Amino acid sequence: MRVALIYPHYGHKVFNENLSLVDREFGRFPYISYGYVARCIKEWGGDVRLFDAMATGIGYEETFRRVKEYNPDLLGFAAHSAQTLPDTIAWAKRMKADSGLPILVGGYEAGRYSAEIMHHSCFDYLCTGQAQGFMSPFLDAFQKRGDFKSVPGLVYRSGENVVSSSVPAGRIAFNDFGVPDRSIFDHSAYYSHVSQRRNFTIGVSSHGCPYGCSFCCMANTGHDAKSAEQVFAEIQDCYQNYNIREIDWFDPLMFLQKRRIVDICERIQAAKMDLYWSARTRADTLIDSASGQIDEKFIETLASSGCKRLFIGIESGDQDVLQNINKGLRTRDLHKLFSSLRAHGIRVLGFFMIGNPGETAATVRKTVALAKSLPIDYAQFSITLMKPDTQLSAQYMVPAIGFDYWREFIKGTVVERVLPSPWTRLRREEQERMAYWAYVSFYFRPTMIARSLRRVESFAELGKYARVAAKILMRYIVGFFKRTN
Ligand code: SF4
Repeated sequence: MRVALIYPHYGHKVFNENLSLVDREFGRFPYISYGYVARCIKEWGGDVRLFDAMATGIGYEETFRRVKEYNPDLLGFAAHSAQTLPDTIAWAKRMKADSGLPILVGGYEAGRYSAEIMHHSCFDYLCTGQAQGFMSPFLDAFQKRGDFKSVPGLVYRSGENVVSSSVPAGRIAFNDFGVPDRSIFDHSAYYSHVSQRRNFTIGVSSHGCPYGCSFCCMANTGHDAKSAEQVFAEIQDCYQNYNIREIDWFDPLMFLQKRRIVDICERIQAAKMDLYWSARTRADTLIDSASGQIDEKFIETLASSGCKRLFIGIESGDQDVLQNINKGLRTRDLHKLFSSLRAHGIRVLGFFMIGNPGETAATVRKTVALAKSLPIDYAQFSITLMKPDTQLSAQYMVPAIGFDYWREFIKGTVVERVLPSPWTRLRREEQERMAYWAYVSFYFRPTMIARSLRRVESFAELGKYARVAAKILMRYIVGFFKRTN
């Protein structure tokens, strides 16, 4: 049994939170969930190959030629994000038409939008839950053309109908997933806009976040973390088997359990690994909860184990706006904290948002002023969006649009469009214009230019920054002249 996992080419969407230019330059990342799927398929006894069009930069025709050469029995697609699902569906439709092969779809959004996805007849099977506990009974049934009714969490076609199996999807703790099978990835193809080393990969050591930020689809999703032992086994696998020297941990909030992180860091240090790593966390996880002071010891431990970069959501420079989005953050503590991180050689990328509830031009200016006042090395200014499965969507979507846009978007009954942001008087064009201004204002300062030049470690890295900077500057200048003519 051969299974071809397809990762199509995803394009920028007009409603995206990032400016199109930023989206294009963001990087190429392995879709690690496919590593878990591959592991399940191999444990069952099947063969699996990944066709990552995004990483290799190849189009549909060449991807299909390679898939055909592999001669699979089954195609696999991932529904990992509602915003990009139409791209997945478009590729699945073409592959179905060109190959006639059965298609299985799974992923984070497959359970939530199963009816909308199965509305598209190109999909034969849909996994509503995790690959673990699903793949083996599914492949058994698929191979024997047998009893799909007892496959946990399966939605499938039976004649003209779409039916669900009689067994609900099981739930397995993340710690029991094991190490994803990274042999399916070409690790030399991946990078991020701020990564410094190759081979580069991403990892996920925990799922969910217990905080309640209104714009975030991870809000109030609990926390399911792998043990330090499991995470270190994955790091060793990356380091020893795939020559990976930089890992970007994509957990929404990696440092929630600090003891676990210290344990991981100590293992990396004991193994004397020459590894860079980065993570996403909240600023307050770097504060000692007992004393209320910066947790210098924790920061020292992070730095000593190769932590080079932290991605921290700051979102706004206005305390009222922060309260409106339920961020629970005090900006006054940040300067000292980020100075400490910088002193330890850890660069901070601050996430900021423009177009938040209650946002005005004045609050955007405060946000940019805060970004410029902080000792951070990178800033990302995105547009606040009515993302699927967020409190903002739940509160504003139907009153503003009249229906659930994301469900219809996945079904293909509405076109891609800019979504309203009724929580602010700033129009989308103004938000985008201010985002460009924010980038220019933040990055085109003599101190930032000098610092950026000092820290680049290769000509390739320098070229990457120069290209993005030139494009942002050009875009801003063109926009300025358009407005003044
Ligand atoms: S923005 Fe960060 S802290 Fe807030 S809910 Fe999302 S992951 Fe959690």
